[in-house]
Amino acid sequence: MTGIDDLPIRDELRGKSPYGAPQLDVPVRLNTNENPHPLPEALVTRIAERVAEAARNLNRYPDRDAVELRGELARYLTRTAGHEVTAENVWAANGSNEVLQQLLQAFGGPGRTAIGFEPSYSMHALIARGTGTGWISGPRNDDFTIDVEAAEAVIAERRPHVVFVCSPNNPTGTAVDAGTVLALYDAAQAARPAMVIVDEAYGEFSHRPSLLPLIDGRPNLVVSRTMSKAFGAAGLRLGYLAAHPAVVDAVQLVRLPYHLSAVTQATALAALEHTDTLLGYVRQLKDERDRLVAELRAMGCEVTESDANFVQFGNFDGPGGAHAVWQALLERGVLVRDNGVPGRLRVTAGTPAENDAFLDAVRAVLKENN
Ligand code: PMP
Repeated sequence: MTGIDDLPIRDELRGKSPYGAPQLDVPVRLNTNENPHPLPEALVTRIAERVAEAARNLNRYPDRDAVELRGELARYLTRTAGHEVTAENVWAANGSNEVLQQLLQAFGGPGRTAIGFEPSYSMHALIARGTGTGWISGPRNDDFTIDVEAAEAVIAERRPHVVFVCSPNNPTGTAVDAGTVLALYDAAQAARPAMVIVDEAYGEFSHRPSLLPLIDGRPNLVVSRTMSKAFGAAGLRLGYLAAHPAVVDAVQLVRLPYHLSAVTQATALAALEHTDTLLGYVRQLKDERDRLVAELRAMGCEVTESDANFVQFGNFDGPGGAHAVWQALLERGVLVRDNGVPGRLRVTAGTPAENDAFLDAVRAVLKENN
């Protein structure tokens, strides 16, 4: 039988497996950092209206530059992220994964390198690989914060063209303070003119303000965002960035024409009309996240400070390590994520009932193991 490796595939893809968390059908799914709240009915109705309008023009290509949507995203950021931006500062694509891919197509690529501080969002390295960009794994402290001195040193030595800073960081939940981002930005610019990409996919869940104001006067700094988490619209596939208008011009050199369908644009615009309701769910999720942290600690788990809609917990150093605990939770109908961080698992904040089921399952597993 012909397999991938029998094809004349690029050498760097040989023997590799695709990204993806298991999509298992279990009662409590807390493994992919989704928002547990379905969209409110009023929004579902509004999406149907706006999509019907768009459908009447589906014989035509969509607005290639998604101008109305970028304007509304800019209004949302201006209102919530502490810095005034306009449509010219904003670019949108099919999920922030596509935004990141377009950034690496424009600023990475063959002969260039990108750095991330690991453990972090594994797609950063995979998108680097897919775009032919070399990958450098930078260090973190034992508490999963970025080791600024070590980071500055590796940036000075390796002179990457792109620096990823994930805040709050997936899978650890760690927020990065503005001073750290500025130190990394300065180190990167001292080495060569380099782009710094702040991935704020979970920005709305943070205890801290957005890092968006840092783009002011820093044309090589980009903040990436998504509607997949805070807006509860992972199925929509809508991510966006905010940066100097020149960055928006640069990604237009690599985007496919009409990449954002009229249906996607209409749906995203409808969701933005319901921002206040959706941000209300975010507030509830933040409370649930804080409850998970407190209850896991009360059970004796080591828990990493979290500014995201998920929590990293452990430290499971018994036989089988974290994976044995992952399996035991699955057997109790609770799916969490094993990101491969030794001794740790990651749980997404779900509904109060889902979180109770998860906490009961952890309690039972810990009891069994003692
Ligand atoms: N960045 C981070 C840190 C993420 O965790 C994710 C999704 N898991 C993404 C980006 C991509 O999300 P999306 O493509 O749905 O916007």
